[in-house]
Amino acid sequence: MQRVLLIDDSEFIHNRVRDGFKGTGLDLLSVRNGREGIDIARALPVDLILLDINMHGMTGFEVIKELKQHRSTLNIPVVFITASNEIENVVKGLELGAVDYVIKPFVAAELRARVSASLRTKELMDLLTNEAEIDGLTGLHNRRHFDKRIKAEIDACVRDGRHVGLVLFDVDRFKSINDNHGHPMGDRVIQRIGKILRVATRNTDVACRFGGDEYVVLMPETSVKQVAHAGRRIYEAIVQDGELSTVMEDQPVTISLGGGSTSELSHPEVEALITSADQALYRAKESGRNTCCFEGMNDEIKLTAKQEAA
Ligand code: GH3
Ligand code: MG
Repeated sequence: MQRVLLIDDSEFIHNRVRDGFKGTGLDLLSVRNGREGIDIARALPVDLILLDINMHGMTGFEVIKELKQHRSTLNIPVVFITASNEIENVVKGLELGAVDYVIKPFVAAELRARVSASLRTKELMDLLTNEAEIDGLTGLHNRRHFDKRIKAEIDACVRDGRHVGLVLFDVDRFKSINDNHGHPMGDRVIQRIGKILRVATRNTDVACRFGGDEYVVLMPETSVKQVAHAGRRIYEAIVQDGELSTVMEDQPVTISLGGGSTSELSHPEVEALITSADQALYRAKESGRNTCCFEGMNDEIKLTAKQEAA
C-alpha cells in the first residue's frame, strides 16, 4: 500500500484530504506541523508528501529544503497545497524541488488525479533506480549499489560505533574455465555462485557482484571474528556445492576469499575497509589459492579452511 503524508496545520484541509482519499486504497498519515512531518518522513517509508506552504512554525519552503538535504527524504515527491493568490509561491515551490501543486479550495477528483500521477512517476523512478543497481547476470546487487551501501554503513559505524565487516572473494583460474569450457559455461558458474551466496548470507548482509568473477559481501554490525566465521561459511558453501562440481567435474571450482572489519581499523573509512579485505584476498591468492584469509587474524583459519576443502 502506498503511503501519503499530509503536512498541514488546518483542520479543514485535513478533513478535505481524508474525504478525497476515501476508496483510493492509499494510506494517509496526517500531521499538523513541519517538524513532525520531517521526523515521520525520515522514520517511515513515505511515497508522497502533501505540503502546505503557509503554516505556523516551519513554513512549507523550510520543510522542503530540509527534506531535500537529507538522503532518506530527498527522493520523496512533494506536492504543494497553496492558496489561489500565491502564484509566486507556486514558482518558488517548484524551484525548490516540488513535483506539482494543488490550489485551495481543490476538488477531490483533482487532488486524487494529481496525487496518483505523481505516485506513478515515483513508482517508475523506483523501478529504474532498482534496476540500475542490480547485476544482470546474477540478480545480485551491483558495484554501484555496493558503493552507496558501504558509505552508508561506514557513516552509521562512525555515528553509532558499530563495526562493519567485509568479505571479498574471487574465483580461482576463472579464465581457464572460460577457455576450456566456453564463455556460456563461465556465465553459468558466475550465476550459480550468485545463488549460493544468497543462501549462505544473512538477510542483513549485502551481497554484490563486484565485477567479473569477483564478489563482495558487506556485513553490518560484524567484527573480524564474525567475518571469519561467515567468510568460511561462504567459502565452504561454494567449494562443496554439488551443482558446481557436477557441471565442472574435471575442474573443481574454488575461490580465494579475504575478509576485514572496521574492528581492526584505527579509523573506519570506506577505502581502508576495502583495502583490508583486498589485502587479505591477495594473501589468499599468493598462498596458493583455494583459501580464506582475514585481516588481523593469524593463519589458523586459512589452514583449517584448506584442510576441510581437501
Ligand atoms: P585468479 O585465480 O588469479 O583470479 O585467475 P583468474 O583466471 O580468475 O583471473 P581473473 O580473476 O583476473 O579473471 C577474471 C576473468 O573473468 C577475466 C574475464 O575474461 C572473465 N569474465 C569477466 N566477466 C565475465 C562474465 O560475465 N562471464 C564470463 N564467462 N567471464 C567473465
Ligand atoms: Mg579470478
